[in-house]
Amino acid sequence: MGVERVGIGYDLHRLTPGRRLVLGHVPIDSDRGAQGHSDGDAVLHAVTDALLGAAGLPDIGQLFPDTDPEFEGADSGVLLERALAAVRQSGYEPVNVDVVVHLERPRLAPHKEQMRAELARLLGLGAECVNVKAKTGEGLGAIGTGQAVACTAVAALRRKTG
Ligand code: MG
Repeated sequence: MGVERVGIGYDLHRLTPGRRLVLGHVPIDSDRGAQGHSDGDAVLHAVTDALLGAAGLPDIGQLFPDTDPEFEGADSGVLLERALAAVRQSGYEPVNVDVVVHLERPRLAPHKEQMRAELARLLGLGAECVNVKAKTGEGLGAIGTGQAVACTAVAALRRKTG
């Protein structure tokens, strides 16, 4: 069955010393990490919003408010799994996910395959259905000066079979 719905997600987190950097559920060695109520995983947040958007569901901020103590320091993999369950509940399942991570440093090339595998595992997809690309900010703006990490994601859904 073909793709029926597509959704886009975007997220940005401020980078700050003394925080962990987790992207796509993979810990990244870095002198600064993402500030945020949860673990600050911009990749999982963008993918979660892309899935929710494609299904026409409320967004990540509505489902998992940052005022809710339950989500303080939360593993964003859990948020993604919950969102995926809501997507399935609405009668859809993911077909593929494509991701662009915007980060000046460290370079993500050594981590991309692991991020891809971890995203595929969380989404219940084959690795060939998940793609992760990394872009720097060319020294410009919040990304380029290392003040932030961001992620853009697109997800496609089809009607669930069975
Ligand atoms: Mg976020």
